Amino acid sequence: MFGSNFCRRVVQLSLFLLFVATAVSAQASPQTAAPATAQHTAASASPPTPATPARADILRGAYGPYRVNNDLLSYHLDIRVDPEKQFISGKNSIRFKMLADGTRIQLDLHPALEVDKILLGTAQLKYERDSGAVFVDFPESLHAGQEYTIDFYYSGHPLQTARFGGFTFGKDPAGRPWIYTACEDIGASVWWPNKDQWRDEVENMQISVAIPNGLVDVSNGKFVGKTDLGDGYTRWDWLVQYPINNYDVSLNIGNYVHFSDQLGNLPLDFYVLPEDLDKAKKQFAQAKGMIEAYQHYFGEYPFQKDGYKLVEVPYSGMEHQSAVTYGNHFTNGYLGRDWTGVGVSPKFDFIIIHESGHEWFGNSVSAADRSDMWIHEGWTTYLEVLYVEYTFGHEDAIKYVNGYKAKVQNREPIIAERGVAATPPQDMYFKGALFLNTLRSVINDDARWFALIHDFYQHFKYQNIMTEDVVAYFNQQTGMNLAPLFDQYLRHTAIPTLELKFGEADGTVDYRWQADEPDFAMPIRVGKKTDWQIIQPTTYWQTMKTPLKKNEFDVATDLYFVNVSKQ
Ligand SMILES: [Zn+2]
Repeated sequence: MFGSNFCRRVVQLSLFLLFVATAVSAQASPQTAAPATAQHTAASASPPTPATPARADILRGAYGPYRVNNDLLSYHLDIRVDPEKQFISGKNSIRFKMLADGTRIQLDLHPALEVDKILLGTAQLKYERDSGAVFVDFPESLHAGQEYTIDFYYSGHPLQTARFGGFTFGKDPAGRPWIYTACEDIGASVWWPNKDQWRDEVENMQISVAIPNGLVDVSNGKFVGKTDLGDGYTRWDWLVQYPINNYDVSLNIGNYVHFSDQLGNLPLDFYVLPEDLDKAKKQFAQAKGMIEAYQHYFGEYPFQKDGYKLVEVPYSGMEHQSAVTYGNHFTNGYLGRDWTGVGVSPKFDFIIIHESGHEWFGNSVSAADRSDMWIHEGWTTYLEVLYVEYTFGHEDAIKYVNGYKAKVQNREPIIAERGVAATPPQDMYFKGALFLNTLRSVINDDARWFALIHDFYQHFKYQNIMTEDVVAYFNQQTGMNLAPLFDQYLRHTAIPTLELKFGEADGTVDYRWQADEPDFAMPIRVGKKTDWQIIQPTTYWQTMKTPLKKNEFDVATDLYFVNVSKQ
């Protein structure tokens, strides 16, 4: 995704919250505690007090007891969409394996939609709705290790909400129906029933969408076929052959025309409004170079059997798995702008490059909780930088990534509160990418860096992970202790400051890091731009000799995202 609503939650307290918060903290991985000491206080404003999460956010965000007791296997979402009545109806067949004996599981469906019935075989199940959650009760205990399928029937007028629409019944410029979903923020249960959380994904999914004849539905996965239902509707069937995030599941219904291409064995399919066909054929040619660049760094496109698609929509874009939606007006930059303001972004289409980068980070490697969404956005923003490096060279890449500095706010840590469906601040994008660029300089060996990030992707592809997994992997592969670096950039608001005290008379400079992490230690290039010298500052003062005067002494701030203070 690019550009979310960074709204604050309403304050709401309940006994239930205390119950869930306790249940969740028992399972959550330990947070790194790193209180700032007086000696190591970073120069940042105190972080805003987090708002108390609303009950609905806890219900959706927590991996509670009725989620943890089961493991998703597959969905078959089978719905009918009526553009005139702005009404949807149908069912999701949910196949899951019980991990513990139990009589209750938690699914989710937005309160705006009706639960029509929930069946296990032919038996109708009882359920209890609580905000967006639907607790389904079984008459007899389900058994650990056994697989079950329930059919969840629902209907109603789905909500058009949030910046990208949730579920939108729109019209194209010619007045024809244009219906689409984009629900990463509000959650997929805004339009279909599912286990609406990030940790657990189905292994595969069928999507069947019945729509009035003459319209086209583009959903995720491989197009299986369409069937005339004989009542003025045609059902479009799609098959997702890989794990998929709930919010990636999408339908895009419109008067689309289709053209296709091929990259090796990978089918490339493009769906646009007829009036945009010529522009699209030109602009979407960038897809090939993008896939080649990302394959160069990380390996094969993750959803080979499902193919790669770009689908025109009226909002800017979204990384819907294997069916990336596109609304960047068939021009380079981002919505016509030079996105990072340094002259590089006008060379490519930001939405094609960014949203498709999520196929590797976001869709293949996924975060297990929304709090750690930098794994999607920080990495994908860094993938933009790699695309620039591969396509236009290293100099442009450095220019491009440093252009992001102006967008960094340093107001809240990148990693948000866990288990409450919290949206991290937008620093997860820009500061996240600048941090990874910094890490590359810390590794200080490009061959090693590229092998490291390639292997990191390969190790975690098709998995849902947390920041702890990332840090443990990097530590293990490098033999370094990078935890204080990850923690400083991701769990604190301030970036580190390199403090320099010049003793020009003696030809010396004292140096240390000012950082929140007491053990923060990061090598950095200093001295003369043409002949950098690497020093190993910690949070304690050290002294080095230098023939350079204060105003001649440089720090490689293009390669490391740090502040420098000279005295
Ligand atoms: Zn994104």
